[in-house]
Amino acid sequence: MAGSNFVDYVKIYCRSGKGGRGSSHFRREKYIPKGGPDGGDGGDGGSIILRGNRNYWTLLHLRYERHIMAENGEGGTGRKATGKQGESKTIEVPCGTVVYDALTGDYICDITDHGEEVVLLKGGRGGWGNTRFKTSTNQAPRYAQPGEPFEERWIILELKLLADVGLVGFPNAGKSTLLSVVSAANPKIDNYPFTTLVPNLGIVSYRDNHSFVMADIPGIIEGASEGKGLGIRFLRHIERNSLLLFVVPADSDDIKTEYNILLNELIKYNPELADKKKVLAISKTDLLDDELMHAMEQELPSIPYVFISAVTNFGLTTLKDMLWKELNSEDNETEVTKTEKDSLIHRNLDIKSVVFEEDNEDIPDDETDDPFEEDDEQEDY
Ligand code: GDP
Ligand code: MG
Repeated sequence: MAGSNFVDYVKIYCRSGKGGRGSSHFRREKYIPKGGPDGGDGGDGGSIILRGNRNYWTLLHLRYERHIMAENGEGGTGRKATGKQGESKTIEVPCGTVVYDALTGDYICDITDHGEEVVLLKGGRGGWGNTRFKTSTNQAPRYAQPGEPFEERWIILELKLLADVGLVGFPNAGKSTLLSVVSAANPKIDNYPFTTLVPNLGIVSYRDNHSFVMADIPGIIEGASEGKGLGIRFLRHIERNSLLLFVVPADSDDIKTEYNILLNELIKYNPELADKKKVLAISKTDLLDDELMHAMEQELPSIPYVFISAVTNFGLTTLKDMLWKELNSEDNETEVTKTEKDSLIHRNLDIKSVVFEEDNEDIPDDETDDPFEEDDEQEDY
């Protein structure tokens, strides 16, 4: 089902562990009537850590993890014994995950690399035991510190695929077919709009052991940037693509107009997309004869273009050459990270509306709910 195996958006409550309380304790030994203080420190609470992992392609594994909590540190005890540290929790996320504060929409961080770690919430430091407070004037301090409190936060994880080439086109333009013939990906192909409900990634091999990633993004329709159709949910994946490959079928009534509609949709969504590199592939040219193709050339938008057919493989090598050349040419620094910071607010997205119907049951409770009804454990010592 749509959205069931590709999850690019989750909301999670996270809580670090609080620090263990320092112990207030005095040495008790036979024949030593008044032993000195020997209360140990509390252990530190565990942290919540985010880590990039290239083995994950979606956020599916986090879909049912509504609350992620690190362990509390344990209290110190006598004989200067330090309490056990609370275990940290590491949230593995796919590379290309953007983290937002769920309450404010504020950008928190970006996890782009495999192995990259960000401490989202730090565990509370353990409190000092009374041993630490012994001074020349106070040989028997009773005071021990409490541990530091935990930190908590509702966060949104949003996945932005890191592809080099993003396919942009109306449903049925031939995007999935193209991806399937130039890469090892195996997307669903059907003569039916919105066949592709989940973005597919394909590795395109290019000449001498080179490769680049192409992403097939579900067809956008006119008005997608205003929330019509499925487009809006997936437009976010286009933001990161360093090159946009527009796919317009040769049997389109007006290729230039179709291209302009697609481009306008993207720009309405995020004006910076206008600065991306663009290539136009006129697909399904097996449906045309040469004469028509030449006539068509007079009417094309002024961006690099190529005629292709995924059925006869016509133009595919030229297309790959063109893409490779564009990807590796200079001034390909079209990062959109600036706007990502406030994109949730900027885009004015109703957070829940971008989640599929059938996903609704999985949306965590509102952040105003306290997921932890039980009281804090008692601070006994
Ligand atoms: P998408 O919605 O853009 O992903 O389009 P699809 O790849 O699913 O293709 C839509 C329809 O166009 C399917 O019936 C394909 O078989 C057909 N198609 C795709 N590429 C070609 C092509 O190069 N030539 C012809 N004649 N048909 C094609
Ligand atoms: Mg498709």
